[in-house]
Amino acid sequence: MQRLANKLKRINGKGYKAYKDIQGSYCFDRYRLHIDYVQGDPFASPSRIRIELLPSDFSVKPDWINTSFRQTAVEDFLARETAQAIRQVNPPRRGTGTSGMVAIDEPGQEILKRTAVRVLKDKVEVRLSVGLPAQGRRILGQEAERIFFQVLPAIVNRAFFPLDEARLVKQIQLSDQQEAIRAYLKEHDLVAFVANGAILPRQSGISNRPMPKHQAVPFKSPQSMEVEIALPHGKTIRGMGIPRGVTLIVGGGYHGKSTLLKALERGVYNHIEGDGREFVITDDTACKVRAEDGRRVEKVNISPFISNLPFGKDTTRFSTEDASGSTSQAANIMEVLEMGAKVLLIDEDTSATNFMIRDARMQRLVHKGKEPITPFVDKVRQLYRELGISTILVVGGSGDYFDQADHVIMMDEYRPHDATDQARSIAETLHNNRQQEGGASFGQVISRTPHPRSFNARKGKKEKVDAKGLHHIQYGTSTIDLAFVEQLVDPSQTRAIANMIHMLAKQWAEGKTSLPDAIDQLYRQVEKKGLDFISPFYGQHPGDLALPRKFELAAAINRLRTLQID
Ligand code: ADP
Ligand code: MG
Repeated sequence: MQRLANKLKRINGKGYKAYKDIQGSYCFDRYRLHIDYVQGDPFASPSRIRIELLPSDFSVKPDWINTSFRQTAVEDFLARETAQAIRQVNPPRRGTGTSGMVAIDEPGQEILKRTAVRVLKDKVEVRLSVGLPAQGRRILGQEAERIFFQVLPAIVNRAFFPLDEARLVKQIQLSDQQEAIRAYLKEHDLVAFVANGAILPRQSGISNRPMPKHQAVPFKSPQSMEVEIALPHGKTIRGMGIPRGVTLIVGGGYHGKSTLLKALERGVYNHIEGDGREFVITDDTACKVRAEDGRRVEKVNISPFISNLPFGKDTTRFSTEDASGSTSQAANIMEVLEMGAKVLLIDEDTSATNFMIRDARMQRLVHKGKEPITPFVDKVRQLYRELGISTILVVGGSGDYFDQADHVIMMDEYRPHDATDQARSIAETLHNNRQQEGGASFGQVISRTPHPRSFNARKGKKEKVDAKGLHHIQYGTSTIDLAFVEQLVDPSQTRAIANMIHMLAKQWAEGKTSLPDAIDQLYRQVEKKGLDFISPFYGQHPGDLALPRKFELAAAINRLRTLQID
């Protein structure tokens, strides 16, 4: 402590570069402070520090971290507590640029594995960003002293001494229950569960928080689809279980179809208590797929959906710089299947119409020989029968899907009803006169291997790999656009993806491994070594990262404009 105080006195009033002197580790009363990275100037991205709580003062109970999802829940909880403490302490910001700011990578509605807090059996580390104060480019030593000797101790005390253990235990128990529902889904051939009482709609189109309780209609399962699950910690829960197979969500416009599907999309992640979706759980390999015209596609076998393109263009290794609605949606499906998705989530609102349907009259006018597209309606059944891939599909516009469906959920004023029998009898009595176009089988899902020359991170003389917000990654001179990768939910995941691509690129430079295999290997390493492993600053402040799913990582690689498949 004294060493740091002396240094700050010595550099007071000097040029900003003199801050580099304070890099290092210091002992405080209840923690060790590590100043890992000092920003270059007051406007640059803030400095990175770690607070290492000492086991003598803060002990980690073994059952907090006896499973990996509990560890994530605990780390998430401590990050939220720290964020809350920062808000309460509300550090004064005197000076230029980021001067005086103190921040942690605060979690949103989802509970993700992230690097903001690391909890091990003998160590807790809190990773913060701090703006080292200056006036112009002159160091404000006294302000810095205040941050290190008053503000940070106050934040640590509020967050951890004493720890609100009752709430921590609640969060652990919730995550036990969420994991129990995930296990239940697997054991009972379900792909999703939506609890009675769940609040699915959000506050607004740009908010991930729940719609206020008095406005929202709580979810209530149709009786025929209701399941009861006994959960750990003395809780029993009831709600709608969606079985494997083909499930339609139908209903009039504005009756809540897309809202239900959105909740299912997000159900691949666990949510915090009070979110409204904390007991909406979806098979964690479920992937939302949509049309994404304009995207690049690199040697994807889209032939199950598209063949006989004009001029005989190959669709078993289909590439384009500018996909159409239907080819992009076909590629999006084949790419998630390559990564092992077992559930597809599709909304007609974001689909290409000609990819989804082709009715009898159109079949008559435009012969199959002249239509490259085999619509999804002719493939959805094969997907399930041959590959065991389930689909949950929002359709308000086409009853042609009735023939293919195992279950039909009808949304009526935000309440789901089981309309399976009705839809089936309509399909029997009101024939659609369509010709099946799907052929004898679905077709092949192929693993591709990226060529090392796909990855050039150089921009000018330096390497540049950087995330910009939720939707963009700068990789060398090219930009990856993730705007339509809808299950990417946190900018910290995007940062992680940028790092992970860079690591995978190095691996591919050394040997040939398929895309799914290489990604699997990387995730096994992360499982073993922790998420810090994907940071270039391993052993120090790793940066603000959150774990994406394999699917979103693959999605980013697939959207890299320089990707080349062997
Ligand atoms: P659809 O896809 O059937 O056209 P949406 O799911 O887009 O309908 O929902 C239409 C509107 O209704 C949205 O503004 C949404 O926030 C709201 N909404 C959806 N579900 C509920 C609910 N359970 N309670 C209250 N409002 C809801
Ligand atoms: Mg809709």
